[in-house]
Amino acid sequence: MKLEKIKEERKKNKLVFFIKDSDEVFANTLRRLVLEEVPTLAVEDLEIKDNNSALYDEMLGLRLGLLPLKTDLKSYTFKATCKCGGEGCARCELKINLKSSKKGYVYAEEAKSTDPKCTFVHEKMPVAKLLGKQKIDVQMTAVLGKGKNHSKWSPGFAFFKREPILNVGKVDDAESIAHLSSDGVFTIKGNKLSVNPEAVFDSQLLDYYVSLDKGITLEHTDNIIFSVESWGQLSCKEMLSTAMDIFIEKTEELEKLL
Ligand SMILES: [Zn+2]
Repeated sequence: MKLEKIKEERKKNKLVFFIKDSDEVFANTLRRLVLEEVPTLAVEDLEIKDNNSALYDEMLGLRLGLLPLKTDLKSYTFKATCKCGGEGCARCELKINLKSSKKGYVYAEEAKSTDPKCTFVHEKMPVAKLLGKQKIDVQMTAVLGKGKNHSKWSPGFAFFKREPILNVGKVDDAESIAHLSSDGVFTIKGNKLSVNPEAVFDSQLLDYYVSLDKGITLEHTDNIIFSVESWGQLSCKEMLSTAMDIFIEKTEELEKLL
């Protein structure tokens, strides 16, 4: 099996790469491990000391649970397997406090985490909006969890497809095809239709282009294009390497059982 990077957008937390000499079974295993097994931190318990905002307590709790939290996998363990026996300690729990009585929006950045490495990812994510004399005071406890138990613990998104090859022969009306190509796959160069190979990888309209003219045909190679997007808790690389560590752990477990 060979891996080859196609593009990486660090600011958008996106990574796209080729998996060559492998198959869809492997790609799907990797996809499911990323979505369901790679752990992250998320708010699980909260104590609402004060909340007279327009959001009732359950709504506020739901919003706080879904805020992505930067996760340091080396410092935290699952509560169930922690040395403290599930009582809760600094290795399995992260305490965060959010207190505000300022009129206007309350942003995620106002929350105070006891671990400076693990704070909310998006500073300007609004949590609630306060009117004069309203306030919120919430003590949160975040724990490690898996996406298969609740999507708030999912580290991001992963998907794959086979590498498409778009062949362009003789077409009737090059100009109108280029005009219909809203995703930049086709452009006109000197009265001829020209294909932008980078746009072909991202395009969702390839079947539509094939239907436009008999001169356009679509094939797929055995190479797999795998895309990962992170919600910000972990980097794309951390997501993939953790997924593979879990894969090895699981196969070793299976080996012992056989
Ligand atoms: Zn513990």
